[in-house]
Amino acid sequence: MTCTACSSNDFRKKIYDHHQVNYRTETESKAFVDKTVPHNYIFKGLVRVCSTCGHGELETALPPQKVAEYYDRAFWGKSNLTQRVDDAIKGNFSLTHLARAKRQREFIAEYVNMADIKSILEIGAGDALLSRELQLYCAPKATFDVCEPGEHWLPYYKKNGIVR
Ligand SMILES: [Zn+2]
Repeated sequence: MTCTACSSNDFRKKIYDHHQVNYRTETESKAFVDKTVPHNYIFKGLVRVCSTCGHGELETALPPQKVAEYYDRAFWGKSNLTQRVDDAIKGNFSLTHLARAKRQREFIAEYVNMADIKSILEIGAGDALLSRELQLYCAPKATFDVCEPGEHWLPYYKKNGIVR
């Protein structure tokens, strides 16, 4: 088995925990995931992380149909879209979502000096909560762009200084 990004065969394993507690042991992380990550979150379990380039993949791949159903429900679905955008504009996010953005920012800060960041591109941004978290730490003139097909987020991006 080789890394799909760089062909290395040197891996370590870790529990995927929605980027919230990466510093914990595997046992603690698994307990945390079982206790806090909602059961409808399908991305959980062991991840093979390439020791050479850092690329990671779930050890047990999910069927494409299940992934499509998840994204339709969590991101592309139209049933509660207006409410989700309204909540985001008001700054109402779940604690899980906020913790995830914070941990993603901390992860980036392990490799990059936040004050040196001049631009951010968040791909598949949705509510762009990572960009909003980074806005608090990056240089004041840093720019924030998203690649997001969902037109419904435009007023929210405009309100928060994010360009699509
Ligand atoms: Zn690799």
